[in-house]
Parts: sequence; structure tokens; C-alpha cells
Amino acid sequence: MTPCDVSIVGAGPYGLSAAAHLRTVKGLELRVFGEPMSFWDRSMPVGMFLRSAWTATQIANPNSSLTLEAFQAESGNHFETPVPLDHFIQYGRWYQSRAVPDLDQRRVAHIEFDPRGFRLTLQDGEVFSSRRVIIAVGIASFAWRPPEFQGLPSSLVTHTTDHRDLRTLTGKRVLVVGSGQSALESGALLHEGGAEVEIIARSGRIHWLQGWASKTLHRRLGTFTRQLLYAPTDVGPAGISQIMARPDLLRRLPRRVQDKLRKRSTRPAGSRWLVERLREVPISLGRSVASVAAEGEQVKVRLDDGSERKADHVLLGTGFHVDISKYDFLAPELVQSIRCYNGYPLLKEGLETSVPGLHFLGAPAAWSFGPLMQFVSGTGYASRALIRCLAGTKLPRNGHEVFS
Ligand SMILES: Cc1cc2nc3c(=O)[nH]c(=O)nc-3n(C[C@H](O)[C@H](O)[C@H](O)COP(=O)(O)OP(=O)(O)OC[C@H]3O[C@@H](n4cnc5c(N)ncnc54)[C@H](O)[C@@H]3O)c2cc1C
Repeated sequence: MTPCDVSIVGAGPYGLSAAAHLRTVKGLELRVFGEPMSFWDRSMPVGMFLRSAWTATQIANPNSSLTLEAFQAESGNHFETPVPLDHFIQYGRWYQSRAVPDLDQRRVAHIEFDPRGFRLTLQDGEVFSSRRVIIAVGIASFAWRPPEFQGLPSSLVTHTTDHRDLRTLTGKRVLVVGSGQSALESGALLHEGGAEVEIIARSGRIHWLQGWASKTLHRRLGTFTRQLLYAPTDVGPAGISQIMARPDLLRRLPRRVQDKLRKRSTRPAGSRWLVERLREVPISLGRSVASVAAEGEQVKVRLDDGSERKADHVLLGTGFHVDISKYDFLAPELVQSIRCYNGYPLLKEGLETSVPGLHFLGAPAAWSFGPLMQFVSGTGYASRALIRCLAGTKLPRNGHEVFS
């Protein structure tokens, strides 16, 4: 069987946007796999709002026709920022139905080397070859559970991604660990759903986005100056936002500067609209968990100041650590061939790994292309970079051009 030109694995914002862009390339045989928007549907809590601004919540498509505005007009759904989770999921599925109607919803079970590029096995056993593979499967495999919580049953400790509906914890005493958006919003939803909540945060203060200083700056600045300081991609503070929006520029800066800017742009923070919702929720700042033990149907948590808490459940809002070896569908020889740093693949132009023809989009690309890749607003850069890379390049191993 002749191999297909390009396969995209993943149907979240990155996979869908890449597919929409690559479909514009004449003569390219493309296959796209994954359940559309499944991470947003299964691993984020009912009642959640997106943190990203309106302009940063658009999934890029080649002629900018598949916008949130177009979705609203066509579906009759009206919403504004903060964008409610269920509307964003509907938007993503609407986008898929327009841009990638032939999406194959089967999972890719295995990817390995093949003399013609890569050999993919689907969940039902179908096998085929592809000259190029673009992996856009997101962060679900990277949920970070600190070592002290390992070994405890899921009845006592879960990660925020384990929950679709936090109301299953109604009436329980819940400790939420973390100080980022996910921990804080989960804390608010749990409190509103009737749980008794306490948030434990390592940092000495909660960083609120769109705080007093930022709001004053926004109000005082004219539109021109505001646009000069803040890119529509909405990643990073004033000024730095413009650098984050330009991964090709960021990549040219010394590594230690890149790291500093990245840290500043993605430090744990919560949306301003959570302040009021968390007013009655106790937050212990500057505290980390020293030890944890199950005690019957409860969990006993000792903090580094010696104080103890007993709870029915601990919810980890401890984020994600990228490590592509955790993608269980990648053959070990393939993973070993990819040059990596700290679990991130080292990518060159076109978000291509050291294995020719193998690309990673989304969060795994953040080490090489900056934190923009962790957000929906990075889909435009990633998809355009892919097109640039593929246009006119030779395909791996067989020597034929992708596009004649
Ligand atoms: C709680 C929370 C809130 C967030 N809020 C925001 C926000 O407000 N704004 C923002 O920009 N970002 C937000 N993010 C980040 C968000 O996760 C990313 O922006 C976005 O999901 C990246 O899209 P993606 O396509 O890389 O991955 P995903 O959306 O995770 O999509 C992955 C896709 O891969 C598919 N897949 C996985 N494995 C396979 C396989 N083996 N075979 C086939 N398909 C597979 C899945 O079915 C899915 O379709 C948030 C993240 C979290 C956890």
C-alpha cells in the first residue's frame, strides 16, 4: 500500500488548525485522527471559564473564517469573555465539522519507524504508513502528581484533569493544592458546589491577572500604546507579550533570557474574576506539603510548618510536566531517537524533531518555541510554520517532493 503523505494525530485546537491549513495544499494526502476537543470535554470541570482573552481563544484557520464570531452568528449562541467551557467545546467541534469533516475519530495506538517513514497502528488494528507524522495530542499524559501523593488511592487523591464534574465532591472536606488558574477555579467551583474547601499554595501570594496595576495601565494607555505592549495572543505581561507572540524572535535570544521570559509569562496565576468567588475560601500561602497518609476513609496532610489537616479528598492543581516518553503510543526506539531536553523534544523550523518527518505541536513545542505553544493562540504560528516547512521540502527517506 502506498504511504499517505502526512498524518496528524490529535483533534484538539492544534491538530484541527494544522489540518485546516494543510488541507489547502494541493495534492497532499492527509489523514487526521482523534476525538475532537476530547481533552476539554473530559478533563476540565463543568462550569469552567477560559482564562484566555477573546482574541487568544480563536483557533487559527487559513482564511480566518472559522472565528468565534462566525460560530456565534451561525449557531445563535451568544457569549462573551470569559468564554464558558461548553461554548468553547462547541466552537471547536463546529470548527472541526467545517475544516476537517473527514476526521477519523479512532485513536492511534502505536507509531514506529518504517522504511517509508512511519508505521501507524490504529486502535482497531488497521496499519498504514505515513511519510510524515504530526503529533498534537496535548498534555493529558503529563498531569503532574508530586511524589508524596503517589501510592494513595484515587478515592483520596486526584488531579484536576481526573474530573469532569466537581460536584461529585459535594459535602466533602477538600484540600486543593496549587495556586494556578486550575487550582483556584476548582476551589471556587467546589466551594460553590457545597464542598468545604481549603487551598494550599507554595507561593507566598496569589498572582491575579488583570490586577489593579494592569487594569490602570490598560485604562490609561490609548489603544495604540496598548496594542504596542500587548499582542492579541495574550501570553505574557506588557512588552514581553510581544516577544512571546513571535517565537522566531524568542528563539534568537540567549537561552537564559528565554527561560526568564518564559517563567515570567507562565507563572501560576488566577483570573481576576475568581477573587470574589474565593472570598470565603481559606487559602494557606507559603506552605508546602511535607507528608501525606491515608487514615481510614480520610487523608492526613502535614504541612511544612508542622500543622496538620484532615480531609476527605486532596485535589492536585499541580499542573503538568512535559515528557514525551509518557506518550504511550510512541515506540521506545522512536522516543530514543528524538533529541530531547528535560522531556521536551528539541525542535527545528516547522516544529520538526531530530527525526526527519516527525513533528510535535502544542505544549511539547514550548521548549523550542516558547510558552505561546501552550495556548490556543499559538495555533496560528504552529500551523503556518508547518506549511512553510512542508512547502517545497523533500519527504523523508523516499526522496519525492511533497508538492509537485
Ligand atoms: C484546566 C485548563 C484550562 C485551560 N484553559 C486554557 C485557556 O483558557 N486558553 C488556552 O489557550 N489554553 C488553555 N489551556 C491549555 C490547553 O490545554 C491548550 O491550549 C490546548 O488544549 C492545546 O491544544 P492541543 O490541540 O495541543 O491539545 P488537546 O486540546 O489536549 O487535544 C489533544 C487531542 O489529541 C487527541 N489524542 C490524544 N491521544 C491520541 C491518540 N493516541 N490518537 C489519536 N488522538 C489522540 C485527543 O483526543 C484530542 O483530540 C487550559 C488547560 C487546562 C488543563
